[in-house]
Amino acid sequence: MIRQITGARCTLCGAVTEAHPETTVCPKCGGILDIEYDYDYIRSKVSKYDLMDRGDPTMWRYMEFLPVEGIGKTPRLRVGGSPLLRADHLAREIGLNGPLYIKDDGQNPTASLKDRASAMAVVKAEEAGKTTIACSSTGNAASSLAGNAARAGFKTFIFVPSRAPKGKVAQLMIFGAKVILVEGSYEDTFRLSAEAIDHFGWYNRNAAINPYLMEGKKTVSLEIGEQLSFKAPDYVAVSVGDGCTIAGVWKGFKDLYAAGLLDRLPRLISVQAEGCCPINTAAAAHTLDWVPQEENTIADSIAVGVPRNPVKALKAIEESHGVTVNVSDEEILAAMRLVGRTSGVFAEPAGATGTAGLKKALEQGLIERDASVVSLVTGNGLKDVANAIRSAGEPLQLPPDMDRLLQALSS
Ligand SMILES: *Cc1c(COP(=O)(O)O)cnc(C)c1O
Ligand SMILES: [Zn+2]
Repeated sequence: MIRQITGARCTLCGAVTEAHPETTVCPKCGGILDIEYDYDYIRSKVSKYDLMDRGDPTMWRYMEFLPVEGIGKTPRLRVGGSPLLRADHLAREIGLNGPLYIKDDGQNPTASLKDRASAMAVVKAEEAGKTTIACSSTGNAASSLAGNAARAGFKTFIFVPSRAPKGKVAQLMIFGAKVILVEGSYEDTFRLSAEAIDHFGWYNRNAAINPYLMEGKKTVSLEIGEQLSFKAPDYVAVSVGDGCTIAGVWKGFKDLYAAGLLDRLPRLISVQAEGCCPINTAAAAHTLDWVPQEENTIADSIAVGVPRNPVKALKAIEESHGVTVNVSDEEILAAMRLVGRTSGVFAEPAGATGTAGLKKALEQGLIERDASVVSLVTGNGLKDVANAIRSAGEPLQLPPDMDRLLQALSS
């Protein structure tokens, strides 16, 4: 038994069971589980000063907050420790007077926040004695699993919808994953992967089903807390698909607060695409009864019509007194240019969606202009070059001729 864990609680029926490496959903009702901790124990083991003294810059520096004893014997990629960038130019352009920070999680080894979950999945698979891991994904969970597993010497079976952008599929192929492009929606892809995992007995890295993944994702907030000297921002803007990321972000802040390492809790800004916003629609109505939607947005990572973790996400938004904002594809494309031009950060569409939502929340008066805000960039723009070009346009093209250059630059 891992000392800091007290068990796994069902988010639906409340039953608490013991947490094993292969634990997935509630044995009683099939609900999604939440790993619970002994915060008195954590508090006795780690202080602000202990943390600040640690050399390890990766997500594993927060070992006392994680559902693991160690990180196993196989090699690991360097996940976490992404920069928190002060973004004054961006703040000015969107009319935010308080401090704004970009947490650039596109700087993870496979270029998305999903590395935090996949690194955790590989450690838990090793604890479970498995050597093959499978998942279904809109793309980034897949490429991060493939990369982290390749580093550790594990085999992977990956199910992605055939619409997945080329950059992500290329990553999968280079990392040596066995890739199945499913001709259907993310929902269809998820269903096929679940059947195959049952059939073959692979380790399951499916979002939500595996409660440990969120524990990896929450390290983004442990970092934000530490990077802001253990003072919470007023708001954190997050793009939402399945809901695991926003739930993980919330859990990280709650953990720090419960361990006495944060002064207060921030409010979440939950951002979805107008063409696919089942979680925000339910959140705005203050209900857990969400309704499936079409997957109609260019932001492929959050094109999730049937979210896998709606209850945890909705509870996180509600508990944090969160704000919901839906943005159009045009607003997402504009935010990609804005973040790039003002901050030097290249975000994929879902990576810029949080910032698109922040801008809109300010315009609509949903948040105060003097607030302090962290905007999470969840994935790097090189993953989806086609949409980046769509956002930014094509460059000048000329023969190698000075006169033509002068002519072009003067017009
Ligand atoms: C997965 C992902 C999200 C959303 O996370 P969910 O857990 O699906 O809500 C946002 N942005 C990027 C880049 C992602 O890969
Ligand atoms: Zn249950």
